[in-house]
Amino acid sequence: FAPWEDPDAKAFIRFDNITKRFGEFTAVDDLSLDIYEREFFALLGPSGCGKTTLLRMLAGFEKPSEGRVFLDGHDITDVPPHRRPVNMMFQSYALFPHMSVEKNIAFGLKQDRMPKGEIADRVAEMLKLVKLEAFARRRPDQLSGGQRQRVALARSLAKRPKVLLLDEPLGALDKKLRGETQFELMDLQMELGLTFVIVTHDQEEAMTVSDRIAVMNEGRLVQVSTPAVIYETPGSRYVAGFIGDVNFLEATVVTAEDDRFELTSDKWATRIVATAGDHRAEPGETAWLSIRPEKMRISLDQPEDTSVNCVPGEVWDVAYLGDISIYHVKLDSGEIVKSSVTNLTRLVERPITWDDRVWLSWPRDAGVVLTR
Ligand code: ATP
Repeated sequence: FAPWEDPDAKAFIRFDNITKRFGEFTAVDDLSLDIYEREFFALLGPSGCGKTTLLRMLAGFEKPSEGRVFLDGHDITDVPPHRRPVNMMFQSYALFPHMSVEKNIAFGLKQDRMPKGEIADRVAEMLKLVKLEAFARRRPDQLSGGQRQRVALARSLAKRPKVLLLDEPLGALDKKLRGETQFELMDLQMELGLTFVIVTHDQEEAMTVSDRIAVMNEGRLVQVSTPAVIYETPGSRYVAGFIGDVNFLEATVVTAEDDRFELTSDKWATRIVATAGDHRAEPGETAWLSIRPEKMRISLDQPEDTSVNCVPGEVWDVAYLGDISIYHVKLDSGEIVKSSVTNLTRLVERPITWDDRVWLSWPRDAGVVLTR
């Protein structure tokens, strides 16, 4: 059982009805959220949605206008930052440029008046942890971006916080290094058994590293779940569109009961049938089938049964990406729908190409019916 599926699990971090106002402006709006011990948790959302403000309230750099913050059962709302077992790592690294790597890592420990011998041991331990033993005496400007990022990580872990907060930690790294560092972060988090909370606006990064993701918009949570649930069954078009690529087919609700959702439109001869969706959907209302491009089958041959989940069109554009190809298909009804296919099929079939007449079809459990 994952802790978030266990009704008896105790929250490690709890935001309890948190509101944060800056003057007239509400940056975080009556938000409640539980994060569990040893979780790798991501706050994801567009610029200005309040992610950093939420993180800063956990670190103690901001005070909520209303509500309380709890850590391990204790109310820490009024505890100053340096007294919280929480540390924050920033995108800008904020390393001291004139200090060596080891001095940078030792800095916070010295401030806490840790005995010299212990500091040396801790610094050695941290250097080993981030695999920078050979770089102890270098200055930050003598390191690569990835190495600097690891020094910053070592420094923020040196005091052995219970919670590490990461604010866009990999923003300055190039794509390849970013990918590698994401896996290093996950390994480190497992190894140390710490709780990590990361702020990012990169959905791929959030999906890669985290156990759960909170998608935010305008100071509120819109969906909190595992990457797979958010990707497969987004609760709204906002969430579906924020995570990954998606198609929306607009139609009218006929049925929205239990596990049978049916939509029709006079644009198509086919009916749209799905097994998942929003049960608030009312017959007659407009709704959207939300379906990922990789779930849209594309074929040159007309399927046997075209009466359900099957629409004809013409290939408008093809992007060959090596592992997959993405087809933009212009339906006869005018919409552009994306279908992505693995290029494995190119070995056995004639690849579909520009201007081909094609059929798009999809299984009933491939999409979700959304009403907002
Ligand atoms: P980004 O990804 O751009 O960092 P974010 O989701 O982290 O965005 P926040 O930094 O939390 O967003 O800011 C949320 C909103 O609160 C923004 O509109 C921002 O301008 C505002 N805000 C943040 N800090 C302050 C402050 N000290 N005074 C006034 N407004 C602030």
